[in-house]
Amino acid sequence: MASNRTFTMIKPDAFEAGNSGAILKMIEEAGFKIIAVKATQLTPELAGKFYEVHAARPFYADLCKYMSSGPIIAAILEKENAVEDFRTLIGATNPANAAEGTIRKIFAKSIEANAVHGSDSDENAAIEGSFYFSQFERIS
Ligand code: GDP
Repeated sequence: MASNRTFTMIKPDAFEAGNSGAILKMIEEAGFKIIAVKATQLTPELAGKFYEVHAARPFYADLCKYMSSGPIIAAILEKENAVEDFRTLIGATNPANAAEGTIRKIFAKSIEANAVHGSDSDENAAIEGSFYFSQFERIS
């Protein structure tokens, strides 16, 4: 059964550009409820841990540097079919390929600085949410 929660980050490019509010508005208007939210900044080590699954990919070092380059907003979101619906809302990894009206199409700067993260499975949504939030920091 599909989980009703996913995890997102508003990435440093979008935070720095002052687009966090507009992105959160799009997320809420698409029917997602914010279950937990915080502004924070990753260290390169923590970014490396979060993206460990990509450790073998050629862009891993750049990605860790970029994701720790400035503040981010982390959030857990709730909606029926959350993971899949959120991936549709954010659009393709590369904004050049993202559908019109998606968050990445509107706000992303490049394939790396692509405005938002969205979990790719129910399992990863749970792991990623726990990476940032204890049970006392989220609506249970
Ligand atoms: P996502 O699930 O759509 O976020 O994409 P992936 O899991 O494949 O990649 C994770 C993140 O790594 C992306 O959101 C980008 O920030 C970055 N990334 C992915 N592909 C590339 C690439 O080819 N070059 C660079 N520099 N960064 C990339």
